[in-house]
Amino acid sequence: MTRESAHDKGRRYLVEGRLTIRQFNRQHGVIAMVRGDNALVYRAEWQPDLGWSCNCPARSDQCAHLVALRLITVVGEVAS
Ligand SMILES: [Zn+2]
Repeated sequence: MTRESAHDKGRRYLVEGRLTIRQFNRQHGVIAMVRGDNALVYRAEWQPDLGWSCNCPARSDQCAHLVALRLITVVGEVAS
C-alpha cells in the first residue's frame, strides 16, 4: 500500500467538498476552512504579507489543506 501524498490528499479534499471559503478579498487574502481526515477543521489561508499558512499539526506550507487551497486560488494579477 502506498502512502497518499499531500498533493493527492489535497485534490481529494476538494473532490469530497471538504474546503469552504470563509473570507476572500484583495486586501486581506483568502481564508478557508478544510475538514481533514480526522474530522477536525483547519484554517488554511493566504495573506499578502505572510503568504501561505495553516494551523494544522504539519506546520508546513506544503500540507494537504494548503494543496487544496492552492488548487483553487490564483495569486497575482488577473487579466481583465
Ligand atoms: Zn494544513
